[in-house]
Amino acid sequence: MSIQDWNGQAAVVTGGASGLGAATASALADAGLKVALFDMNNEKGEAHAATIGGMFCNVDVSDPASVKAGLDKVVASLGAPRVMVNCAGIALAGKTVSRGEPHDFALFDKTIRVNLIGSFNCASQAAALMAASEPMAPDGARGVIINTASVAAYEGQIGQIAYSASKGGIVGMTLPMARDLADKGIRVCSIAPGLFLTPLLESLPEDVQHSLGQQVPFPSRLGQPSEFGKLVCSIVDNPMLNGEVIRLDGAIRMTAR
Ligand code: NAD
Repeated sequence: MSIQDWNGQAAVVTGGASGLGAATASALADAGLKVALFDMNNEKGEAHAATIGGMFCNVDVSDPASVKAGLDKVVASLGAPRVMVNCAGIALAGKTVSRGEPHDFALFDKTIRVNLIGSFNCASQAAALMAASEPMAPDGARGVIINTASVAAYEGQIGQIAYSASKGGIVGMTLPMARDLADKGIRVCSIAPGLFLTPLLESLPEDVQHSLGQQVPFPSRLGQPSEFGKLVCSIVDNPMLNGEVIRLDGAIRMTAR
């Protein structure tokens, strides 16, 4: 199977209104998939869905009922999803102890709920729909799930305790999820991006963006979201990629601060 064989199939991209998710949605639509965006930003989500000829669903990935309602709409309009890409995420900063106070519980809880549990909710519910669908190929292939980790899973910086824990959870989930779903013909991979030029970094002054880019060994610049979308398509395209976390980072290894 190659990505041409996925033409006309349904794909869901969470966080699809912005940044890496929006670029992924564009790449999958360009490859001929019918794409649904799950996001909480209605304005940007509706606009991007219209640009790529896809659909938008207001979904809070941290709420299993909201994910189910979104997937029900996808199944009704586009058919069962064959590709599920989890890009929705938040990056809230906080230290383990700051000014004598322990880390804010609510901030830690929210980060894990959106980044880790949100990815799990979408992956597990989409996998059940894929498993109930007909195989797409004689080897029994039924679908692909791609989660977004971060290099912070390995080299979390000062203030990234909650974010790194959430992304470490995605790394840890990748192989067991692939093993759980192997007999159903569903592959699971994660991507661990380095520094990408999304709205988060676009809001920084240009000299700061440039100096962050200079920390990347080669190419010495911030990654383009389209380069993330390209890797998503490569994972969909390549049937032997499974159970792996792929760093996409120009060889950067983050320092403590
Ligand atoms: P972004 O802020 O541009 O996009 C994230 C999207 O997720 C937003 O549209 C937001 O509305 C949505 N979202 C947030 N909470 C949600 C929820 N509960 N339910 C549904 N949607 C929700 O961010 P980005 O830079 O494109 O990041 C995408 C993913 O990549 C995140 O998981 C992030 O941690 C990861 N990542 C980004 C970088 C980078 O350099 N940009 C590096 C490593 C990892």
